[in-house]
Amino acid sequence: MSTTTYPVTWDLEIFFRGGSESEELRAHLEEGEKKVLAYTEAVGDFRTPEAAGAAEKVAALIEQTKNTSAHLRESGAVIGCFLAQDTTDKKAHLLQGESSALGAKFQTAFMMFQQKLSETDEKVWEELLASGELEEFSFILNEWRKKAAAKLPEEQEAIITALSVDGYHGWGELYDLLVGDMQVTVKVDGEEKVLSVGQANNLGTHPDPAVRKEAFEKLEAAWAEKEEFFAKALNSLAGFRLQVYEKRGWDEVLQEPLEYNRMKQETLDAMWGAISSNKQPFAEYLKRKAALLGKEQLDWYDFSAPVSESTSKLDYQEGAEFILNQFGKFGPELESFARMALENGWVEAEDRPNKRPGGFCTGMPLSEESRIFMTYSGSMSNVATLAHELGHAFHSYALRPVHQLNRQYAMNVAETASTFAEMIVADAAVKEAQSREEKMALLEDKAQRSVSFFMNIHARFLFETRFYEERKKGVVSSDRLNELMAEAQREAYAGALGETHPHFWAAKLHFYITDVPFYNFPYTFGYLFSLSIYAKALEEGKSFEEKYMALLRDTAVMTTEELAMKHLGEDITKQEFWEKGVRLCIRDVEEFLSLTSDEG
Ligand SMILES: [Zn+2]
Repeated sequence: MSTTTYPVTWDLEIFFRGGSESEELRAHLEEGEKKVLAYTEAVGDFRTPEAAGAAEKVAALIEQTKNTSAHLRESGAVIGCFLAQDTTDKKAHLLQGESSALGAKFQTAFMMFQQKLSETDEKVWEELLASGELEEFSFILNEWRKKAAAKLPEEQEAIITALSVDGYHGWGELYDLLVGDMQVTVKVDGEEKVLSVGQANNLGTHPDPAVRKEAFEKLEAAWAEKEEFFAKALNSLAGFRLQVYEKRGWDEVLQEPLEYNRMKQETLDAMWGAISSNKQPFAEYLKRKAALLGKEQLDWYDFSAPVSESTSKLDYQEGAEFILNQFGKFGPELESFARMALENGWVEAEDRPNKRPGGFCTGMPLSEESRIFMTYSGSMSNVATLAHELGHAFHSYALRPVHQLNRQYAMNVAETASTFAEMIVADAAVKEAQSREEKMALLEDKAQRSVSFFMNIHARFLFETRFYEERKKGVVSSDRLNELMAEAQREAYAGALGETHPHFWAAKLHFYITDVPFYNFPYTFGYLFSLSIYAKALEEGKSFEEKYMALLRDTAVMTTEELAMKHLGEDITKQEFWEKGVRLCIRDVEEFLSLTSDEG
């Protein structure tokens, strides 16, 4: 084992010295203010191109877009790190407000640039894109233009945007308010506890079945009590969206989310098709889990119940070494990159108070570095999280040679590199597990994840598409929403579910997110897409890494169909492609089933 010691706290000083009180950061923000002003002016002066000779001007403005945006995101990312490492940092909160206000100003000007450019006449447009200056941006520029063309004239879109503040986003905000205000009382370890929704949800992992059941029932009752409010919010959100789609002449509710994720309907159908025809092993797993818990069928509140415990502990140094070892078996670039990140203080992992929960990876575009945030307490799941976030950082690293404008990948491929890195480590952990108990816990962790992507998210997708179809004809009652949800769950869980969670449409925040519609299938896409790449890596060995990095570099300059065809030689509009990833998950479930066969 190496003797290197990896720092457990990150280095933010190299960006701006002095934390949230930094003079350098203050100067950077003031500089940002000036840059945004200059950019807004440049966009104001910009005229829709009338001849191919404008290419140089367009390229210059693209350059200014990149520089301004990178400048703002550099400070934005560091401020985000300040807040995460100490949630009580009041100065950082103020800085964040300042930073996002500046970002909004920039965004307004950026949209105007896109708008003006999109109005270019067809012939001039073709000439512009063929010019040496703009060729590399042809995908993103065409995308802007296509988006603008699919919308209503500028003034009408401006009215929609203005009305959406109160008539659309307001409903999403009301949802947050309603949920934030809810409380339930649950008896835990002999004591009556008043809990928030989040806290009560966490009881789903409680070892005592009575506690899990009570928490679930109290929550169901609480959602039922307020169901008319939630039904109103959900119907209004969907109604607004449908009205806008109708005015724009869009017939399909999936048009917007599919375009946003740069994918075809056929691809989505092929993905769900592969999942739907392979549900049986996962239903078997749910049955086995029910048996392990001494039940006929698994009820909703038992999904996260512990059936065995991973007790293996690795200190941070050991965890880091474990990751580097496994990465090294896959490819030299991933390993040396991760080693550099771990050695150079890119990771904040210390277990101490006042840190934000969860983990993330953020990029500093000016310095071309990333920072990873998490709290490491020694469990195998912490090791997996660290690998996951290092995967995100590796994606940014692979994108370094690419122009900033060509790095804006969509939600469905955003988790490719992270899931990939996590899989390497999770698989190795199963292989090297020291006891049966440990192996079971690790395999169950993987099985649960498959259930959530293939069944839980599938139920959300089925519910949401059916709800939208009914909403087109009028308001959908809360009773009907409950029915639709329970039906979707029974179907998606392939009959392996006992008690359903009919009010899940009220309980799940994702249905109320207004920024992106259909906040569900991209998760499943990302997981399976990444698994298929992983399957390919297992086949091809270390030589695959070069191809893998080339794929990552192209994640934001083509459709996902083109991406898979170019780098994997795969047609993702076909079910066979998706089945490769599903098979890896079935393998884990089968191992779990055979490991626990004496108890089934
Ligand atoms: Zn992630």
